[in-house]
Amino acid sequence: MSSLAHSRSYADSHIFHRSLRKKPANIVSGQGITFTLSSGRTIIDASAGPAVSCLGHNQPTVIEAVTRQMQQISYVYSMGYTSSSAEELASLLLSQKPGGLAKAIFVNSGSEATDAALKLVSQYWIEMGQSQRTKFIARKQSYHGNTLGALSVSGHASRRAYYEPWMSHNVSFVDPCYAYRGKADGESDVEYALRLRTQLEDEILRLGPDTVAAFVAETVPGTTIGCVPAVPGYFVAVREVCDKYGILLILDEIMCGMGKTGTMHAWEQEDIRGPDIQTIGKALGGGFVPLSGVLATQNVFDAVSNNSGTLSHGHTFQAHPTACAAAVEVQHIIGRDNLLKNVVVMGSLLQQSLEESLGSLPHVGDIRGRGLFWAVEFMRRPSTGDPFDKHAGYSNRVVEVSQDLGLNILGTLGDTGEYHVEHVILSPPYIVKAEEVAEIVRLLKTAIQLVDQELD
Ligand code: PLP
Repeated sequence: MSSLAHSRSYADSHIFHRSLRKKPANIVSGQGITFTLSSGRTIIDASAGPAVSCLGHNQPTVIEAVTRQMQQISYVYSMGYTSSSAEELASLLLSQKPGGLAKAIFVNSGSEATDAALKLVSQYWIEMGQSQRTKFIARKQSYHGNTLGALSVSGHASRRAYYEPWMSHNVSFVDPCYAYRGKADGESDVEYALRLRTQLEDEILRLGPDTVAAFVAETVPGTTIGCVPAVPGYFVAVREVCDKYGILLILDEIMCGMGKTGTMHAWEQEDIRGPDIQTIGKALGGGFVPLSGVLATQNVFDAVSNNSGTLSHGHTFQAHPTACAAAVEVQHIIGRDNLLKNVVVMGSLLQQSLEESLGSLPHVGDIRGRGLFWAVEFMRRPSTGDPFDKHAGYSNRVVEVSQDLGLNILGTLGDTGEYHVEHVILSPPYIVKAEEVAEIVRLLKTAIQLVDQELD
């Protein structure tokens, strides 16, 4: 058992932590890609929290930008006013109209962004005179957030478990595009994408095409099944099916977006024009501030603007000027330091060293990802496709042992659903260097080997 895990008692904490039995380690400072615990221990943040801290910690110019903003104006109520930092952020993200995306809503968390996207879709169809379009199709084993709306379109079994009575009945689920576990023996990528296309189309026909409001998917799913890029052609098929029936496509890029896969938007690598609505978060504010957003096409905006002319949704802290100022500076640094190039170069180094170092370990089943967004999936017996069951806790043990060794990574959260997936995620900050990539992989390999020894 982890020595770290046993050294902390819950008695002196007044906070509901995730574990209510074991107080988590206290992080007191951070610098670059590392953070330091109150014990004095320094840890490499190889997952950037949950894929958040894209510039690492203690970035001086972000701190300056935030301070400057706070000195100018501390709060702006976005129901009746706007701020220069919110306008600048939206224009930085949208002035080039990526994929036709033209307007933004800024909120605080990814879950709020998902809820805002779902509500924008609902309002859109009513404004378009098609109020019967109330049904959403999402994917099994997905995660789009923890508020009740966002959870309703999430297929992640354990996250839903306590709240099933609250979940909307207007959501149905199709299979994710998950070649490693979902592709049939001998099936090609093309055949697999076609099968998933047919499944989506069949579901639309079953529901009645003119009752379906939107299809929701993560471009590269993160926490549930672990950094799984779709097979080529899958999103082309999804886009075509949505267009065929006039259904809106929502892509959730809260975890995989804002540069993590090597392009600002993960869908840019999918050969599609883009989604109708996109959610962003996590790396948007780089973890310096809570900030997420919804991006929408001009068409979606116009439907609301030309009819009621009012967005029927809002929050007290929407488009907070401090948060937007931090995100503006995060975007400037990504551009100024050409960090997307570093994501691509370090990403391919990470892939290569993961494959070389871990590929032959007995429980490593699959290594997959894009850019600096990678997962290692563990199987009880990879050669026969025999998975760990949901009580095995293998990946979380790897996370614990890694933490003991000075490495922070993400593990599997509870029962992921139909088929349980044991994986760990690495998504180091975009500033990571080659020697740090090597150290991350070395520590991860040691952790996996130590866990394997415990299993023997
Ligand atoms: N969507 C995806 C794909 C996520 O990974 C997450 C969080 O992990 C969310 C939505 C919810 O974001 P938040 O935790 O900021 O509410």
